[in-house]
Amino acid sequence: MKVVLQNLTKIFPSRDKKAGKEVVAVNDFTFEIPDGKLVGLLGPSGCGKSTTLYMISGLQKPTGGRIFFGEDDVTELTTENRGIGLVFQNYALYPHMTVKQNILFPLQNLKGADKMTKDQMLERAYNVAKLVQIDELMERKPSELSGGQQQRVAIARALVKMPRVLLLDEPLSNLDARLRLQTREEIRRIQKETGITTVFVTHDQEEAMSISDMIVVMKLGVVQQTGKPQDVYDDPTNLFVAKFLGTPPINVFDGCVKDGKVYIGQDKVLEISGVADQDVTIGIRPEGFELDPAGGLTCQLSNVEVMGRDVSVVSTHPASVNPSVRSIIDADNKVDLGAGIVRYSIKPHKIFLFNKETEERIYFEVK
Ligand code: ATP
Repeated sequence: MKVVLQNLTKIFPSRDKKAGKEVVAVNDFTFEIPDGKLVGLLGPSGCGKSTTLYMISGLQKPTGGRIFFGEDDVTELTTENRGIGLVFQNYALYPHMTVKQNILFPLQNLKGADKMTKDQMLERAYNVAKLVQIDELMERKPSELSGGQQQRVAIARALVKMPRVLLLDEPLSNLDARLRLQTREEIRRIQKETGITTVFVTHDQEEAMSISDMIVVMKLGVVQQTGKPQDVYDDPTNLFVAKFLGTPPINVFDGCVKDGKVYIGQDKVLEISGVADQDVTIGIRPEGFELDPAGGLTCQLSNVEVMGRDVSVVSTHPASVNPSVRSIIDADNKVDLGAGIVRYSIKPHKIFLFNKETEERIYFEVK
């Protein structure tokens, strides 16, 4: 089932009526989530991603705009009548109930034509428990489970009513690093197996990139960019998106374009066409540097960190906005720490130019 957000807006009134300003938590958000896909809503704290999710769920009422599930306008429907499954960061399981009772709970409240027999409910509960691989734990209480297992129970409980849309709000935040990795792969598998259109909220870009079919990057209530994770990473629309995606993060420099040449400080790093002379902000992805004794960019070498297959070269440059410049290069390349400097040429598709004031991307052609 596709989900369509049409000019969705949420404005919270100010708490302090005299002095305070209202908060535009989500501003004119229009987007279509394709049927059966997993979409990651991504952005820093306060960007409006949870508010968007709550509006899709019906927990919050939009100030403006409409929400459609397929062709159904669900904007005025209550949460119970939308056919959604919700999973929160803090599992929210009933502690006095067993896993089985927790999963059965939403089915026991079904009314009218949806009412199920006890056997039908049990069959459904065991099927979803199998899907999320907790069918061996049905008689335990939540306190007897690990965090990852508890979150699986929460997912099973959300799935047992066969929702039209699955909504996940930071579902991995309470798990330790190893469990997070494992559980996010699980979520992806479950989502693919069920084919339920899913919206996943996270502030962790790596998490969103790794499991989403599409990502939506938000800032201060405004959608910055939408697209497939790799496309957004490779082709960011502005400096905010470029900085938000990628670990290690993109390297940012002050620079300029002059006579078709891109300069970082005094260093000429690229020849381009299609851009007028101007000061610019320059972003270079860590994998965009190539060791080159004749390269245009000269950095002061600080350290080389071995990471196995790759090495991370840490250096400084006077025009760098951050304290250090970090490149990732193949470990087969030998960096001479004693040399004091390191010279790079730059891969043209890994360097981005941004307007100094608006921070919007400036597109160029490589000469
Ligand atoms: P986080 O990752 O910290 O949860 P978020 O991106 O999910 O952040 P939201 O919770 O959607 O952000 O909040 C967006 C903005 O709306 C923030 O500025 C927040 O302070 C504000 N906001 C959220 N809920 C309310 C509310 N009930 N009343 C007033 N302002 C609110």
